[in-house]
Amino acid sequence: MKRIGLMKYILFTAALTMALLARLAAPASAAPKVVASIKPLHSLVSGVMKGVGEPYLLVKGVASPHTFSLRPSDARELERARVIFWVGEELAPSLERPLEVLPKRAEVVAMAESKGLELLKLRKGGLWEGHDDHHDEKEKGEHHDEDKHAKGKDADHHDEHKETKAKDDHRHDHDKHEKAKDDHHDEKAGGHHGEHRHGVFDVHVWLDPMNARKWVHTITHELEEADPANREKYEANEKRLIARLDALHEELKSTLAPLKGMPYIVFHDAYQYMEKRYGLNAIGSVTLSPETKPGAARLVEIRQKVRDTKSICVFSEPQFQPKLVKVVMEGTGAGTGVLDPLGANIPAGEDAYFTLMRNMAKSLKGCLAGK
Ligand SMILES: [Zn+2]
Repeated sequence: MKRIGLMKYILFTAALTMALLARLAAPASAAPKVVASIKPLHSLVSGVMKGVGEPYLLVKGVASPHTFSLRPSDARELERARVIFWVGEELAPSLERPLEVLPKRAEVVAMAESKGLELLKLRKGGLWEGHDDHHDEKEKGEHHDEDKHAKGKDADHHDEHKETKAKDDHRHDHDKHEKAKDDHHDEKAGGHHGEHRHGVFDVHVWLDPMNARKWVHTITHELEEADPANREKYEANEKRLIARLDALHEELKSTLAPLKGMPYIVFHDAYQYMEKRYGLNAIGSVTLSPETKPGAARLVEIRQKVRDTKSICVFSEPQFQPKLVKVVMEGTGAGTGVLDPLGANIPAGEDAYFTLMRNMAKSLKGCLAGK
C-alpha cells in the first residue's frame, strides 16, 4: 500500500515538473501578426514590439504611399494580420479598399486619428495650392503663354508647351475619371470621405517628434489590447521610446535653430509639422501633390519665386524625379539637397525614425547653412 502511495507521489511530482519546465521553455506568448504601412510608423511599432516580434512593412524602398500599389504578398500579410497600423486614406488612398474587406478579427488603426495629435491644416495660397489646383495650373499655363507670346519668346519653347498642354489634357481626363470613381465611392461610404481627402489637414503628422510620442502611446495601447500577455514588455518599450524621442527633439532643436527663417522650397508639401516645430521657413513646393506632375508653367512660376525670395535651396525627394528640381533651380543660384520623409534608403527597424529625422536635419543644414 505504502509503495503505491510513493509511486503516485513520484508520478505526480514528475508531471508537475514537466509542466513547469514546458512553461519555462515556452517563448513569451506568441507575438501577434502586425503590419505597418510606412517606414517611420513601422519603426515606432518595431520599437514597442522589441523582444516580442517584428511587424511587416508594406511601403518599401522608394515607393510613395501616395501612389503605391499593393502586391499579392502584401495582401497575404494583411489577410493574416491581427493589428494593422496605417496613417489613413489621405496618405495612402490605394490601401483603403483592401483594408475594408479584411476579416473582422483584424484591428485596423488609422494613426492620423491618434488621440492628442497636433494637426495642421493643409496650406493654401501662394505656392501651397491644394490638391485639385492643377486645374488652375492649366489656366496659369495658358496665361503664361500669352505673356510669352507678348514677350515674343522662341518657337522651341512653344513646342515644349504644346507637349505639356497635351500631357495636361490627358491628366485632366484621367482626373475626371478618378473624380467620378471617388464620387461613387463617397456615396457608398456615406459622404464623409471626400471631405477628408480633399483637404482639411496635412497628413504627414509623424515629422514632429511630439506627434510621434502620441503615436507610440497609441501603438502601445493597441498592442496591449490585442496581446495582453506581453503588456509588460510593451510598456517598458514605450517608456524607452518616449525617452529616445525626447532626446531626439532636444537634438533637433539645437541643430535647426541656426536655420530659422531661411527661405527654401520643398518638393511636395510634406514637412509642415517639422517646420512648425523648429521654426523653419519653407515657402513653397515644386509639385502641388505627389500624384500629379507639375506642368511647365508651374515650374517657371516656382523658378521665379526662388529668384524673388532669394530662396537658398530647392530640395528633391528620392521618391520623385530629381530632374524637376534641376529645372526649377536653373539660373537661380539656389543650392539643393535631398529631404526624405519616408526613409527610402534607411534599413527598416526601430532606429529608422530617428535616422530619418536626423538625415533631414543634416540635409537642411547642409544646404541652408552650407555646412
Ligand atoms: Zn507626402
